[in-house]
Amino acid sequence: MKILVVNAGSSSLKYQLIDMETEQVLAKGGCERIGIPGSILKAKGNGKEKVYEQDMPNHKVAIELVLHALHDGEIGVIKSMDEIGAVGHRVVASGEYFKKTTLVTPEVLKTLEEKTFELAPLHNPAAATGLRACMEVMPKTPMALVFDTSFHATMPEKAYLYGIDYEDYKNFGVRKYGFHGTSHKFVSAEAAKYLGKKPSELKIVTCHLGNGSSITAVDGGKCVDTTMGFTPLAGVLMGTRSGDIDASAVEFLARKKGMSHAEVINYLNKKCGVAGISGVSSDFRDLIAGAEQGNARCALALDMFAYQTKKFVGAFAAAMGGLDCIVFTAGIGENTPVVRAGVCEGLEFLGVKLDKAANAGKNTGAIREISAKDSKVKVLVIPTNEELVIARETAELL
Ligand code: ADP
Repeated sequence: MKILVVNAGSSSLKYQLIDMETEQVLAKGGCERIGIPGSILKAKGNGKEKVYEQDMPNHKVAIELVLHALHDGEIGVIKSMDEIGAVGHRVVASGEYFKKTTLVTPEVLKTLEEKTFELAPLHNPAAATGLRACMEVMPKTPMALVFDTSFHATMPEKAYLYGIDYEDYKNFGVRKYGFHGTSHKFVSAEAAKYLGKKPSELKIVTCHLGNGSSITAVDGGKCVDTTMGFTPLAGVLMGTRSGDIDASAVEFLARKKGMSHAEVINYLNKKCGVAGISGVSSDFRDLIAGAEQGNARCALALDMFAYQTKKFVGAFAAAMGGLDCIVFTAGIGENTPVVRAGVCEGLEFLGVKLDKAANAGKNTGAIREISAKDSKVKVLVIPTNEELVIARETAELL
C-alpha cells in the first residue's frame, strides 16, 4: 500500500508518498513560504528534483500543486489517485476530542473544524484545508488524522496540570497537552538506536526547533514533560508566537491596545516571537543575516531563543534527575549552528561539551554527533521524520 502523508505547518506543507511494504519514500517534497511572497515547491520523484516557483496564497493551492507533482510526466510516480491507499494528515491539536489516530468521517471533520481550531489557530485550520482539498480530489480514499498530542499522553499529572482549580481542569480540559509528538517520538527513538542503547536506559531532551518549537523530556522512551501547553503558544518564543507569558499581561495588553482577549491571543500567536522582537522576520535565515549586518534586535531575538531553549534543557534534566543526550531537530535545530551553540554554551556543568567544528558542519541529512568525544552528554542532530511515523500509524489504523 502507498500512503500519502500530508504535514501542513503554519507556512509550510511537506508531503511524502511512502510504500509501506518497504517503507521506501517514492516521492517527497515541500512547499515553503505559503502565504508569503516567493512561495516555492521543491518536489522529488523518480530520482529527479523539480522546483515549482508558483504563488501559493493558501494551503489548498499548495496541496493541488503537490498532487500535480505526483502525476508530473518528469518526476511523477503514480498514474492515478487510486494508487494512493490512504492519506495520513498531521494534526497539531486534539484537545480531549481525539485520543489517538482517527479515521476521517463527516462527524470527525465537523469536530475537527468546530472544536479544535481554537486550540491551534495557526495549524489546525491549515490541516483541515489540506484535508478538504485531498477529500475533493480523492473522495474514495481513506483519510486519517494523526495527532501531535498522542506521544505526550504519558506525562504524569504533576507535569500536565496547571495550578488552577482542579474542577476547571476536569470540566474544561484545561491542561498541558504538548505538541510535535510524532517528531519527539521519532528522534528520541532514533537517538537510542544511534547510541546503541535501549530507550529505557536513556534520559533525553529533544529540541524540535522550527517555525513552532517545543522541547520534550523523554525518560526511558516516554514523554514525562514538554514545553508546549494547552495550545502550541506556550514554551519558548517562536517564529511569530510569544511563548510563555504571564496570563495577567493578556488583560493588560487588551486594555492598552484596545483589543478583545481573543484579539490579544491572535496577536500573541501571529505578531510576536522572534518576528516581534526583531521587527524583521520570523525566518531564522533572515535573523542570522540581519545579526551579521549588525542589526541588534535580530541578534537579541536569536539570543532570547537560545537562552529560553537552554533553560528548558536544564529544567528537564532536573525533572528527569539526569541527562544522557540532547537532540536537535526540525528546520532550525537541523540547520542553525549558532542556535545549537547558544543552547549548549553554559551547560558544561551538566556534562555538555560541544565540538565546535562538528557543530559548524553542513547538514548532511543523516544523524550527526556534534558533542566532543569526552562529552558526558551526547549532543545529536537528527533529521526528524514525522511523515514516517504518520504513515506507520495510518497503515496500522487501516
Ligand atoms: P514548520 O514549523 O513550519 O514546519 P520548519 O521546521 O520547516 O517549520 O522550520 C522553519 C524554520 O527553520 C525557519 O525559521 C527557517 O529559517 C529555519 N530553517 C530552515 N532551513 C534552514 C536553513 N537551511 N538554515 C537556517 N535556518 C533554516
